[in-house]
Amino acid sequence: MPNLLQIIMYLIEKIKWQAQLINKLSDYINWLEDDTGRPSKGTDITKLDYKKMTLDDPPNVVEIERLNYKELLKEAEDVSKPIKKVRRHNSSTAVPESVRCPKCGAPHDYLYKNNGNKGQYLCKVCDARFHEKNRFSKDIQLFCPHCEKHLDKIKERTEFDIYKCRNNLCPYYQQELTNLTDKQKELFETSPYYFKLRLDYSQPDHKPLRNCVKSIKNTQSIFH
Ligand SMILES: [Zn+2]
Ligand SMILES: [Zn+2]
Repeated sequence: MPNLLQIIMYLIEKIKWQAQLINKLSDYINWLEDDTGRPSKGTDITKLDYKKMTLDDPPNVVEIERLNYKELLKEAEDVSKPIKKVRRHNSSTAVPESVRCPKCGAPHDYLYKNNGNKGQYLCKVCDARFHEKNRFSKDIQLFCPHCEKHLDKIKERTEFDIYKCRNNLCPYYQQELTNLTDKQKELFETSPYYFKLRLDYSQPDHKPLRNCVKSIKNTQSIFH
């Protein structure tokens, strides 16, 4: 059973704690009142000049034309221009056996290392250039509707992938840069992550946008 002194000490502690809480709340109220940027009570928030949410134009979707290297080899032979396997003069130019051309399926014997050891390959059969990292099955590629450059996948999530146009000369990006005020430009220099100036696009569920698939005959360019 606590004695009277202990009860008084306990209550004094409680009062001290309440005093601290009151001080903190009072500081908070002062901070709220001092924030001049905050809209006053009763402001119609729909009238405030916030950046409007906008949706970017959807990307151009291109279906990759698939070829069969065996047929291409045969066609070349038929016109007396047979395509021979790559002759390698030293082992540094060897292409790993696991690498195949994603466009025509040609095995490593028909592939060149296109840029030394940086992982880009060139197919001798169909002329496709491709990168080690994206040599696996890819049925579509996405292109920026403003500059027509390839969109890069910047994030992979379970429900969707996020693509972005990284082209600094893209008209979309250039326009968004021009639209910045001087103050925003200053902030952009130090903290670019506050701004969304580049076209980006979320591809849901890894499913291609079949309704806007454009098939192009000259697929050569899409490997660059
Ligand atoms: Zn090929
Ligand atoms: Zn672009």
